[in-house]
Amino acid sequence: MHDGYVFHCDSCGAEVVTTSSTAATTCFYCHNPVVMKGRLSGDFRPDRIIPFKLSREQAVSAFMDKTKGKKFLPKDFLSDSNIEKMTGVYFPYWYIDTQQDSHMTARGKKYRHWKSGDRRYTETSYYDLFRSGDVYIRNVFERALSAADREMLQCIHPYDLSEAQPFSMSYLSGFQAEKRDIEKSDIQMMVDQKIDEYCKEVLAVNIRVLK
Ligand SMILES: [Zn+2]
Repeated sequence: MHDGYVFHCDSCGAEVVTTSSTAATTCFYCHNPVVMKGRLSGDFRPDRIIPFKLSREQAVSAFMDKTKGKKFLPKDFLSDSNIEKMTGVYFPYWYIDTQQDSHMTARGKKYRHWKSGDRRYTETSYYDLFRSGDVYIRNVFERALSAADREMLQCIHPYDLSEAQPFSMSYLSGFQAEKRDIEKSDIQMMVDQKIDEYCKEVLAVNIRVLK
């Protein structure tokens, strides 16, 4: 990836430099929104978006309330130049729904103890367990932007997906947005692994698993 993709700001005419994946940003000079329409078209167009609920001003004032009076903050943490950098960023994710025909086999044990006279008896019964069923799994997610730290993004989750709207470019105006650079095939293994674990959990319900 190389830098230096130049757009002209419609409002002040300045040249706005972006990276190849930037889909929306703000003009550095006049702070007007710049949306690169072509970046999220065709195959790169997201299906859904969870729109920001707070304006930048509301976010800044909520942040100031939260940090007010907190000791041990780094000196320049609340400096004007730092606050100036605060911005809403839309991150792309993959959300995957799937239906799995799943089955599980296990060996079960049951003990029965009793006493008769001065003897103790233990009876051990062995069972073969077999369970199968259709497992529906929704919203298995992975990040779709490699620049975003995976651990950090896990911390932000879960999003309230009931708030998701059909995607429209107009939501991006005034925010930062990036185009995905991770394809579904890149995350398939991680997603399959998660799905596998969910299926096991669902099928093993009410079974005490001995390690
Ligand atoms: Zn401008």
